[in-house]
Amino acid sequence: MNVPLVLIWLGIAQIQIPEVRVPEIRVAIPPPSGQIDISIDLSTTSPGQDLETLLVQERKFLEKLASNDADQAQRMAAEAILKQLGTKDQDISLHGFRFEILPDYVPQSGWGMTGEWLKSRQLQAFRDSTVDQLWKVARKAAQQDRFRITDQALRAIIRRDTNQQEAWRLLGYLTVTDGWATPYAEAQKERKRILHPKFGWMDQEWIEPLARGQLPIGADSITKKIAWGPADQANAAHSDWENAWEIVTEHFRIRSNVGFDQAVAFGRKLEAFYQFFFSQMADLIGPELPLARRWRMKTMKPMVSPIVHHVSYFADKDQYVKELTPLEGDSIAESIGYYRRPPQNANGRQRGGRGMSYFFQDSGGQLPVEATLYHEASHQLLFETAGRDRLESNRGHYWLFEGLGTCFETVQVAEDGAIQFASPVGARMDVARKRILNDHVYTPYEVFEAYGQAGFNIQSKIHDHYAQAMAMTLYFLVGSDARTRDIFLDYARDAYKGRLRGARGLASRLGVEPKVIDESFIKYLKKGVSEKQP
Ligand SMILES: [Zn+2]
Repeated sequence: MNVPLVLIWLGIAQIQIPEVRVPEIRVAIPPPSGQIDISIDLSTTSPGQDLETLLVQERKFLEKLASNDADQAQRMAAEAILKQLGTKDQDISLHGFRFEILPDYVPQSGWGMTGEWLKSRQLQAFRDSTVDQLWKVARKAAQQDRFRITDQALRAIIRRDTNQQEAWRLLGYLTVTDGWATPYAEAQKERKRILHPKFGWMDQEWIEPLARGQLPIGADSITKKIAWGPADQANAAHSDWENAWEIVTEHFRIRSNVGFDQAVAFGRKLEAFYQFFFSQMADLIGPELPLARRWRMKTMKPMVSPIVHHVSYFADKDQYVKELTPLEGDSIAESIGYYRRPPQNANGRQRGGRGMSYFFQDSGGQLPVEATLYHEASHQLLFETAGRDRLESNRGHYWLFEGLGTCFETVQVAEDGAIQFASPVGARMDVARKRILNDHVYTPYEVFEAYGQAGFNIQSKIHDHYAQAMAMTLYFLVGSDARTRDIFLDYARDAYKGRLRGARGLASRLGVEPKVIDESFIKYLKKGVSEKQP
């Protein structure tokens, strides 16, 4: 078997409330701790804090204008901007946050909220100074290799002032005659392909049969001419795995024997997730992150990503098990999704070949198929883009990788294509709350962090460990303050690169005792409960 033993479990997302109760250390309910104050002294703050402060200031300014009746036009503009900025004062620790997906093509006019900001001199002047400040934050974050914040600042800049050419280039867009477009969209246009609102980019000849409800049944092996037919007939023809659909999107090649519509929808979700993942996990990807490369090379033009990620999506579990058992053994039957890494040779160097993530349509399963999709896709994107990992070099810190995988199970793609992330709900979070708060089965952070792969995956505790890893990661990403979030992601990057050989753990990086992490974490978990049952 080519996959190193230490990583066998990494890709398997499981969820079950264990039947055997494991005696673990009880946690006392901590006293309430003080409020976290946001400092606005830019010299000592983290870039994440700076960005948060700036956006809070902006909101306060707009709210003041929106409550001022004297200037009606300005008041209405401020109200319109506030509406676009989203729900007021939403507590991200309870509701997570929304991430807007940038489209392939952005017209020069009629996008973002530039127009509203130009409705008065006062608004415009304030916007210009905010944009200046956002650039400062973007630079400071880039100097510290915290490209997650750079990315967020750039997205904030273009929404406020669409005409920021450099921000578009950094975000991977080309300037075209009437706006901005991704290199992929441009390449499709050059090939005279059409963007279908439901099915994505396609050859012009496909438009008419699709409009009639037909789908391709097959292609003539010699002439390559496509035979079209009714949708059910075409789907039946592709229901055998050997003859499955091949859906190619910008970053993925998907093989699937589900219905064509579902396979296409699956691809769209993966693409939305791709953009979100590269924004949120930018710090982990490191110097090869396209944004980081464009930041270093001011003359670098955005290009289509050369990396394609391979995905298999089975219509049912039997086929999934049949396909994977020869590769991974019988234990695969217990999994609900799997990421198989590219084969590596003895010293860990990649030997070519490709990684592949595997899913099946899990109707009525414990987790929605999307949850598993985002979990496994996050492993795949990290391992296939962040360069060589050195996970085995760490002493402990294994929890983090399943923490990152499971936290992406909270991703939901809304009707309008935006992503909702980190709302602490779902089956696995229910397990975490039940086990930790009700059953008092909790592994203190100091112990949890010290687990290597074997300790984390010990069979009697694995479900508890997965649930705790998910809840803790959400705590660090949304349940704590901006500084903690920045430091947590630095820690995650060092863990990926294998720099944690007895080095300082997260508590000492944060400058606190490990038990402070336990206390704040439990408080975060309890907050979710009191909100759910008022
Ligand atoms: Zn995983």
